[in-house]
Amino acid sequence: MRSLRPWSIMQQHTVQTPYMVGEVHFYSTELDSELVLFDTGPPTPEGEACLLENVDLKRLKYLFITHCHVDHYGLANFVLQHSHAEVFIPRRDAIKLQRHAERMDRIGELLGGYGFGDDFIVQLRESFERNKVFTTTPERFGIVEDSDPPARLGIGYLACPGHSQSDLVYLVEESAVTGDVLLRNIFQAPLLDIDLDSFKGRFRNYDAYCSSLLNLEQLRGRRIMPGHRQYVEGVDESILFYVRTLLERAAQLRPLGSLPLNRIIDHIFQGRLTEPFFVYLKASEIVFMLDFLEDPVLLKGALEKIGLFDRVSTLYTAITG
Ligand SMILES: [Zn+2]
Repeated sequence: MRSLRPWSIMQQHTVQTPYMVGEVHFYSTELDSELVLFDTGPPTPEGEACLLENVDLKRLKYLFITHCHVDHYGLANFVLQHSHAEVFIPRRDAIKLQRHAERMDRIGELLGGYGFGDDFIVQLRESFERNKVFTTTPERFGIVEDSDPPARLGIGYLACPGHSQSDLVYLVEESAVTGDVLLRNIFQAPLLDIDLDSFKGRFRNYDAYCSSLLNLEQLRGRRIMPGHRQYVEGVDESILFYVRTLLERAAQLRPLGSLPLNRIIDHIFQGRLTEPFFVYLKASEIVFMLDFLEDPVLLKGALEKIGLFDRVSTLYTAITG
């Protein structure tokens, strides 16, 4: 009888990362007396030490990953090597890992289509290496959406793509482990990528974000366990920060919208942005903003459905009107 079970405590663990985002959080809890971990922290000596210190890996039964970005899942292999835990990742992340080389080629083609030359694409791959964007694929893993343990443990999940294609939010009793989906004062770049279902054309982060807003609404009233910045003020506040940032940056882009993407970046940064990985992040963000400018009503409709449009209507009208 689930209702007779005392609510378990979701513990937040925090570790510094070498990435721009700063600290990352991962979480552990006991469900039916089984130790469960959500995300791992980064594959660094500090990350390993933090995990060993805070989580009894000998007892660990399950690891669930919100999304396979290195700061969140980078120690999945370490967990496999130091425990008997089963590791579960989102379905689209499994595709991403299994078809890595092909995906990289397709992303190169996408960027080529936006005016970036072959030199840039070679440098971007080197930059991914230098910035340690990818880590070793876990030796074995299951796919969250195809597996029994979540339901057996009473863990629900919601797909909230936008930042990546695979972001999952885990629902554990009154808590929601949200990865990078809801953050306080961070605009998590929606990453330009090949559509992992079809491997044809790019993933439409903007369309996905607008649909995900309807899922994010369901998180109201839950305790939000974010991947960065300790806590969020609330689901609505976090969404509104994201939408306002989107609207403000889209306003700056509007006069440049007819230029090729690489020229837009040159225009905004005047040659100051040189690290290819950061250029890629900016390019991703700009594609997202341009998609918004092309079809702002999609966002408006989603915000109206969740009752938040009035809070940004002045800004929205100033940009789209
Ligand atoms: Zn992150």
